[in-house]
Amino acid sequence: MQHKLAHNTARRFDIVVAGGGLVGMAIAYGLVRAGKRVAVCDGADSAHRAARGNFGLVWVQGKGGRCLPYAQWSRESSERWGAFAAQLQRKTGVDAGFERPGGIELCETIEQLEAGRQLLESIRARDASLTYEVLDIHALKARVPSASDKLAGALYSPHDGHASPLYTLRAMQQAFALAGGTYLPHHEVREIRPYVGRFEIDTPHGTLEAERVVLAAGLDNQRLAPMVGMLAPITPLRGQIMVTERLAPFLDYPTLVVRQTPEGSVLLGDSAEAVGFDDGQTRAVMADIARRARTAFPVLGHARIVRAWGALRIMTPDGLPVYEESSTHPGAFLAICHSGVTLAAAHADVIAPWIAGGARPSILDPFVATRFSNSTDAHVL
Ligand SMILES: Cc1cc2nc3c(=O)[nH]c(=O)nc-3n(C[C@H](O)[C@H](O)[C@H](O)COP(=O)(O)OP(=O)(O)OC[C@H]3O[C@@H](n4cnc5c(N)ncnc54)[C@H](O)[C@@H]3O)c2cc1C
Repeated sequence: MQHKLAHNTARRFDIVVAGGGLVGMAIAYGLVRAGKRVAVCDGADSAHRAARGNFGLVWVQGKGGRCLPYAQWSRESSERWGAFAAQLQRKTGVDAGFERPGGIELCETIEQLEAGRQLLESIRARDASLTYEVLDIHALKARVPSASDKLAGALYSPHDGHASPLYTLRAMQQAFALAGGTYLPHHEVREIRPYVGRFEIDTPHGTLEAERVVLAAGLDNQRLAPMVGMLAPITPLRGQIMVTERLAPFLDYPTLVVRQTPEGSVLLGDSAEAVGFDDGQTRAVMADIARRARTAFPVLGHARIVRAWGALRIMTPDGLPVYEESSTHPGAFLAICHSGVTLAAAHADVIAPWIAGGARPSILDPFVATRFSNSTDAHVL
């Protein structure tokens, strides 16, 4: 029983990852692939876990309007996703359900379409490889016959895709364990004590010791980061999601508001509310989500909702990620983002090798928490 192993004597690892959500598991999987002895200390079932409540988009379109490296980082991950999913499936037999047909942002008005076009054009003007198409209603209907005539049009980008977040998490957990990683559920990290060259990590089931520690505990990073000399200025941002019964296939592309899974279920979402740690649901927001979904796809008018939930995004003040090594306690790393599905492949392939001892990739230069010392920006993405 893994829960009982750590009583009294410290267990030693090369690296302890605090948090077994999408961010922590992707990094931990990358670390065991690099040959490290890794333990993941995960929280309890009652912890806030965005990894288990999200929409499943691998999304690039529109990101990085004010920070081009974020657009490029998202696209890099999206491009790595196919090989990442294939490797996970080869190792575990679990299909993460990744598809990359391109993504569609539906626009109800001409003004929305034009604003979206301007944003994507401003990104493309700085990096011509970040491509998109503007679809008027006729072009949209040709591509997505189930779309409503009432829409003004849509923006299409080939970089976008989607995956099953739950199968992705399961595949990463299994691949991590198969490669010798130690997953410790109900081992919420209470305290981290830094010493020269090592860290002691206290959990309810004993103390672990490691040369490096990675903070990937979602919203709890705010509490943990100061223990190793860092700041994690994050706030929760609630999203609500509804799922319909299984329907015959009607949508070949993921959109920001409606996504049909390979099994036929349809996820409806795209809300954002700053309501602290309340992860409940409200009738008003669900009604708005349902209205937008029905407006876009009349076929949903008679679909039955079978599940609904709220979950909390992990937001930095400017919406950009943080990947940082502590300057006061080298060996302690912080990883925060609000797109843990999109970035999973890059976390395993790029962030893990850096944490394992490689050079810090220059694309990460803007993603340090020290940027918040002088910034008053809010949610600029
Ligand atoms: C409604 C909604 C929709 C979303 N849609 C998308 C999307 O379409 N595409 C996309 O890319 N992203 C999406 N996201 C974001 C994505 O879910 C998150 O980026 C991702 O889950 C963050 O992963 P994380 O590992 O940082 O945090 P979490 O998934 O929250 O995981 C944190 C983990 O840390 C554990 N933990 C907490 N405290 C401690 C502690 N002290 N010690 C040890 N472990 C601890 C918890 O038990 C949990 O397992 C969405 C999020 C929400 C809420």
